[in-house]
Amino acid sequence: MGCAGPYASSEMGRVSDSVPAASSSGAGSDPRLTSALVIDFVEGVAAIIKAERQYLTTLDSAIGDADHGINLDRGFSAVLAKLPEVADQDAGTILKTVGTTLVSTVGGASGPLYGTAFIRAGGALAGRTEFGADELIAALDAALQGIMARGKASRGEKTMIDTIAPALDALKAARANGADLLDAIHEATAAAKAGMEATIPMLATKGRASYLGERSIGHQDPGATSAYLMASVLQDTLEHTLTREGGTSHG
Ligand code: ADP
Ligand code: MG
Repeated sequence: MGCAGPYASSEMGRVSDSVPAASSSGAGSDPRLTSALVIDFVEGVAAIIKAERQYLTTLDSAIGDADHGINLDRGFSAVLAKLPEVADQDAGTILKTVGTTLVSTVGGASGPLYGTAFIRAGGALAGRTEFGADELIAALDAALQGIMARGKASRGEKTMIDTIAPALDALKAARANGADLLDAIHEATAAAKAGMEATIPMLATKGRASYLGERSIGHQDPGATSAYLMASVLQDTLEHTLTREGGTSHG
């Protein structure tokens, strides 16, 4: 897709060292995910959005108003500035802060949509400094439901939903088949990429691109693309975290 964009997560706000050891994160092989993982994820998203800002904006120039990369970079830059204030908080607080910051700093449709997603995910992880795979999936589910409710949109309308919904389906299906979280997230990211690419032949029926009618056909949706970038960052972040823990935590 021409936007490989490696991301470099900064050391800012790392709280890995201050997070207490696992105690009650669930039985057996359930991975222990922490607030530090959430911080790493958000920093990684901010970095990839900055790196791919022009690419996202170019996609939006074809079927929108050429501001998607600019919008998200503005939002996630504001998020980065806020992160140190909440870095030692629970995952719910961190995610809600990300969401409210996006809502208040991003002008376009994507601000309230992604903002709602992060706020809803934060609601699902309220009070948690540690959580397992099922809670992560519940948080992602809440994020998707938030976007669909806020945007009054569903699959097949050429939006970010066309990336996120199939990715979550793949994640849940892989887990139901007994895959560990890392394998499941790889399947989810592959489904996210396929979902993003599937927006190319779609007719837009929501958002600015819908004003173009038939002329929206043949272009990849910018929001579906930023959603894929976020999925790839989630995969990388989980890979780093779970591999660093020495392979005992794959669940
Ligand atoms: P704007 O369209 O206001 O300029 P952006 O350019 O930042 O906002 O974001 C556009 C993206 O937002 C689209 O590519 C699409 O994925 C997503 N989007 C727009 N409207 C909706 C909606 N109603 N539901 C879900 N996603 C939407
Ligand atoms: Mg736009």
